[in-house]
This record gives sequence, structure tokens and C-alpha cells, in this order.
Amino acid sequence: MSSFRRDYISRPIFALAKKAMPAMSDTEREALEAGDVWWDADLFTGDPDWAKLLAYPQATLTAEEHAFLEGPVNELCAMLDDWKISWELRDLPPEAWDFIKKHRFFGMIIPKEFGGLGFSPYAHSEVVRKISTRSLAAAVTVMVPNSLGPGELLMRFGTKEQQQQWLPRLAEGSEIPCFGLTSPEAGSDAASMIDTGVICRGNFEGREVLGLRLNWHKRYITLGPVATVLGLAFKALDPDHLLGQEEDLGITAALIPTHLPGIDIGRRHLPSMQVFQNGPNWGRDVFIPLDFIIGGKERIGQGWKMLVSALAAGRGISLPSLSAAAAAFCARTTGAYARVRKQFGIPIGKFEGIEEPLARIAGTAYLLDAARRLTCAALNQGHHPSVISGIMKLHATERMRIAVNDAFDVHSGKAIIDGPQNYMGALYRAVPIGITVEGANILSRNLIVFGQGAFRSHPYLLEEITAIADPNGLDAFDRAFWKHVGHSIKTLFRAWGRSWTGGLFAPAPDAGRAKPFYRQLSRFAAAFALAADMAFLTMGGALKRREMLSARFGDILSELYLLSAALKRWEDEGRQEADFPALEWCVETGCKTIQTRFAEIFANLPNRFVATMLRLVLQPLGARDTGPTDENVHQCAQIILEPSAARERLTAGLFHIDDDRGLARLEKAFALVAAADGIDRSMRAARIKDSREAVKQGVISASDGERIRAAEEAVSKVIEVDDFAPDELSEINLKSISREEMFAREVRAAS
Ligand SMILES: Cc1cc2nc3c(=O)[nH]c(=O)nc-3n(C[C@H](O)[C@H](O)[C@H](O)COP(=O)(O)OP(=O)(O)OC[C@H]3O[C@@H](n4cnc5c(N)ncnc54)[C@H](O)[C@@H]3O)c2cc1C
Repeated sequence: MSSFRRDYISRPIFALAKKAMPAMSDTEREALEAGDVWWDADLFTGDPDWAKLLAYPQATLTAEEHAFLEGPVNELCAMLDDWKISWELRDLPPEAWDFIKKHRFFGMIIPKEFGGLGFSPYAHSEVVRKISTRSLAAAVTVMVPNSLGPGELLMRFGTKEQQQQWLPRLAEGSEIPCFGLTSPEAGSDAASMIDTGVICRGNFEGREVLGLRLNWHKRYITLGPVATVLGLAFKALDPDHLLGQEEDLGITAALIPTHLPGIDIGRRHLPSMQVFQNGPNWGRDVFIPLDFIIGGKERIGQGWKMLVSALAAGRGISLPSLSAAAAAFCARTTGAYARVRKQFGIPIGKFEGIEEPLARIAGTAYLLDAARRLTCAALNQGHHPSVISGIMKLHATERMRIAVNDAFDVHSGKAIIDGPQNYMGALYRAVPIGITVEGANILSRNLIVFGQGAFRSHPYLLEEITAIADPNGLDAFDRAFWKHVGHSIKTLFRAWGRSWTGGLFAPAPDAGRAKPFYRQLSRFAAAFALAADMAFLTMGGALKRREMLSARFGDILSELYLLSAALKRWEDEGRQEADFPALEWCVETGCKTIQTRFAEIFANLPNRFVATMLRLVLQPLGARDTGPTDENVHQCAQIILEPSAARERLTAGLFHIDDDRGLARLEKAFALVAAADGIDRSMRAARIKDSREAVKQGVISASDGERIRAAEEAVSKVIEVDDFAPDELSEINLKSISREEMFAREVRAAS
């Protein structure tokens, strides 16, 4: 029977699939093979095992990591003055650079045996998160060597000698690394770079050796201007066949000391007025021996694979940590500001119109931190889930953008006017950077999350594709294909049943009030698995080019992942009742998005018969989720409008210092206003606005009158904004400050 099936049914399908399947480039294949799968694969089965999700160990810190956060991280934060850094120094102060190096911030992920701190991904994330709430320039400076950079590449692919040579120096900061991939011609399509390394003989340190003659022009390279060692991606060519028959050897990564002749490095870009070191660099006929290639000669041509697999981990940590911190920061500050700022005689946070963005900020903060923790838990366990990392990079930065915009709207003029009192401006300017780097978001949404994720996380697709690409793959194809068919039939009935009953009987663990949320996710996971299968079946490789459709599938998969994380957080934190409105807001908002995306998919799938059948099976009554109720929005906003344990949980791990600057003033005013709430109410009931009058009339006590006045004074300090004398803002003045500082630094350096 099985050979009959193979020869008479599978064989023609195999032949058809071979014709229909577009050829896969090496870079595409390498991107697909990079990293691994995790909870994304469970979601893709259409029947996620919730018990498995809830059993994943939470990400936690060791005592040593905790001490580092409370010690050196707090000390570093205290020495950072973001206004001065951005507008006067245009760089971190020299003492901060020294401190960062001395305390091995650059070596957080480098193992202890090489002199690094050997921290877990979660600890790395917590450090970046805290620093970013004080200075983004400092956070990016610390983050880059610990994410995609020479350190990660050396640890995973470097030779023993390279690890011994470089890792201790990178850990102690005596070498500053950067990684150069992007060039003017090659941005998102980095593999199309025209930077080359030609295999040739050359003279290096007095010896004639086999090596590479490099020519490149890179730009946007973070830490580039101060880097002492450049990780460089280029195309290796062997026109004289010094290594073998092949001429085009492929993308290769090497480590290049930046003092070598022919290298021009040091000029700076100014990315959105963020002053972390970033700039272009060039190399003209730079000669390096072959053993400068990361991993040695054997790794020539494997650079792309190495980079993509390093990105699979890095993308899940750095930018999601910054973004989760930004959302939490917005929640803490915007809630407090909306509480202390009055218009029309009442705190603006009491207006329904303001509650809506406040709830969005609070919900986003809850969701992003939940997803950050879950992803760190996967990384802590040694996974490199590439699809999840893509989801995290894309959605964390997108949702940070929403939270920051909302925070700006609520703060209004207070956030717009720049100066030392402004705690929001730098964040706003930094948002587009997060959106653009490590896979620009439009590309990530339309091409990466589902376009690559589908093959990676689907239970059978990768097996089928691999079999199709193999000329002798019929047997493997036959096995995978029929398992796939069986799976699809099961999924059809599962999705149909769950959709027509509104998920009422879909699987859910015993999760208290959150149980119905699991049912909804079980329902949508089944619907997603069925719709995705039908899209593959009817569109095949063309689905990749239909980016808008692919993006919608990606959005559904992303929502399923993010909402799983929110549910796990609620469970892990002991089902905190006070946090339930935030969880509910996340789930209701996510379900609305999922339903809308399904409706958009059914409206646009090219095969209209399949689209109509899918709509009938999965959404017979249309997209009916309307998002959070007004009551839920109100309750969710309340979490950040009052001091409470829920507010502290939502905004834990941010840096605080009492420096009488904008943020410290806000914290103080918020505490005083909240404490004076009852007194305020008595005055309102007696229709008296002036506290002195209220004391005189005996409505409030003298001490209460003083508390009211202290709160009013604190609030008036919060609503202050900066102003400048015209010459303080002149270009000349800014330049002269910068020049003086430069001069001082040169003097310091010389001595
Ligand atoms: C501040 C900063 C720091 C950086 N640091 C580094 C670094 O340290 N090292 C390094 O190598 N690089 C770095 N980069 C480069 C960064 O990774 C690139 O900017 C990014 O890859 C995008 O390239 P691009 O800016 O040229 O945009 P383009 O590639 O020109 O893209 C423009 C737009 O087209 C979209 N797009 C492109 N292709 C598609 C597609 N197929 N489908 C849909 N949309 C698509 C993109 O999403 C984007 O919105 C940095 C960039 C910045 C701004």
C-alpha cells in the first residue's frame, strides 16, 4: 500500500511541487536553517499544549547578577546626565567609558573563563533595560558589544586561538568592537553587499602569507568611530584559484584591527540626535592573513549563516529590552503626570479621552515585559528561536512607538519642550532607530516573521521543502506529505468546531479568571493552522511575494505568541487580581487584531473558493471582537494613576535617583498628590479651592493644609519646562561647548 501511495499518488505531487516551488537561494536557506524553534512551533500545530507553556521555568537572576544590577549598574546610571551627554558632550563622559570598561559591561555575555561576566540573557536584558531608562546612548553603547558583534561570533564560531586572543580583551574593554555589515548599496538586503576580499599573497608583519585584500565602504556602524576591532562582512573571491576551483566563495566574516594601513574610521553620523558612537568606515586594499577570518579558513563563505544565527539570539534580547523598558517608563511617567496635571479643575487622567491612551500604555507595558521575560527564559535554556526573536524585535519596537506617542500626547507641551527637565524627548527621537536596525520593521513584518517563520515553525513544511529540493527526496516527501495531510484534516475539524462554538469548549488549563482567554487562543491557533495550510496549498511559493498576506499571517502568529506570554506572566506572578485589567486589555486587543487579520486574509486570498470556505468555517459571523470594553479601559488606566503594588510590578527595574530633575520631581509630586487625595476631596466637597482658606474655615487641619501646599509646590515644579537665552541655543555655543570638551579630552588623553 505504502509503495503504491508513493509511486502513484506522491510521485506526481512531488513532481508538481518541484515545478511550483521557486528555487531557494543559499542565503535564504541559511536564514531558514539558523536558530531553532520553541513555543512558536507549538502554536503552529493549531493545538498548543498550555501545560507545557506554564511549566517553562521563569527567567531569574543569580545573586551575582542581582548584585551587579544593584551595584555597578546603579552607579553607572548615577553618573549619566543624558542632557549633558546629548547636547553638550555629544558622547558619554570619559569617566562613564572608563567605568563601563572597568566593570566589564562589554563582557556581560563572555564566559568567565575568558574574563567576562558570564551573565544569562535575562541578566543582560535587565542591565540594558535599567540603563536605558537613564540614558539611551549609554544603553546602546553597552548593548552592542553584547549582542550582534564580534563577541557573540567569536564564542560561537571562533577558533580556540581567536577566542584566547580576543575574548579577554573584549571583556575588559581594552578592545572596543563593532560590526560592519551595512553598506550604502546593501541595507536590508545585506547579502547583496559589494564589499570584497580577494584571496592573494601579501606581506603581513614581515612575513609573506596567504590572505585577503579587502575593499569596503560600510556605514551606520555602531561604535565604529571608537572601535579598535572591526568585525567585517564581505564577499570572498578567489579569482586566481589559490584555494580551489571556486571563484565566488561567499559572504565571510573577519576580525580586523582598525589600526591597519588603508582603514579610514572615526567619522561620525548623528542618528536622530542620539549620540552613541555611530559612523561610516572604509578600507582600501587592506591586507589581512587568512587566520583573521572568524573561525579560520574553514569558515570562508559561512559568514551569512554565522550572522543570521547570531541575530537569532541577539534580536530577542537587546531591542525588546529597550522597548519593554520604554513602555514601562511611559507607563510610570505618563500615569503620574496624568495624575498630577490638572485641567478644568480635575486631574487629566480622569478624562475618558486620556484614560484610553493610558490603558494602551499600561497594557503595552504589561505585554512587552511578559514577552521579554518569556523570550529570555527560552534563551536562558539555550534555545535560539529565530521566529520568536523576529516577532520580538518587530512587535516590541512597534509597540514601543505606540506607547511613546501616547505618552507624548498625554504630556503634550511638557514632553515637547526640550531641556534638562524633559524626560521624554530622547526616547521619542530614538524610536525610529529601534524600528530600523536589526531588520527594519516593514521588512520584518512582511517577509521575516511568517515568510520565514512558516517554514521554520510549521510541523511538516520544512521537511517537505527539504525533500523537494533533494533529487532523491521522494521517500522523505511521501512520509512528510501524508503526515501533513492527516494533520490538516484533524486541524480542519478542530478549527471548525472551535470557531463555530466561539471557543467555548476549546482546551484551557485551570487558570482562574484567565481560563476563557486560553480558550480563545486555542480557538485562534487552530484557525491559524488551517488558514496557513490552505494558503500554502493554494499559493505555494507565491505566498512569499504576497507580502501583505504574509504580514497578516505573521500578525496572527505574533499575537498568539505575545498573548501566551501575557497569560504566562499572570500565572507566574501568582494571578495578581490587581493586574487582571491589564491582562484583559492585552487579550481583548489582541483578539480584535487576530479577528481583523483573518477577515482581511479571507477578503484577499487569491483562490476565492478557498477563501469563502475558510470564512464559512472560521468566521461565519465575520470579525466580531470589538476590543476592550470602556470599563476595562478605565480599570487598566487606574493601574498607573495611583500608587499601588500593581503599578510597581508594571514598572519594576527602572532606575530612580533623587536629583531634583524632571523625573525625580514627578515621582515626588505624584507621591505627595496621591497622599493628599482625601484632603483634596474634603476641600472640593466644601467648594473651597485655596488650602489656607480651607484651614481657616476648619474644613481641613493645619497639617493637612501644609500637605496640600507641599503637593501644589511639587506639581508646579513638575509642570515647569526649560527655556534658554537665545545665545545658549546658538550653533556656535553648542559647538564651542563641544570643542572645549574635545580639547579637555585630548589633554586628558595626552597626559
Ligand atoms: C542608528 C543605526 C545603527 C546601526 N548600526 C548598525 C551596525 O552596527 N552594523 C551594521 O552593519 N548596520 C547597522 N545599521 C544598519 C541597519 O541595520 C540598516 O539601516 C537596516 O538594515 C536598513 O537598511 P537601510 O537603512 O539602508 O534601509 P533600506 O534597506 O533601504 O530599506 C528601506 C525600507 O524598505 C523596506 N524594505 C526593504 N526590503 C523590503 C522587502 N523585501 N519587503 C518590504 N519592505 C522592504 C525596509 O523595511 C525599510 O522600511 C544601523 C542603522 C542605524 C540607523
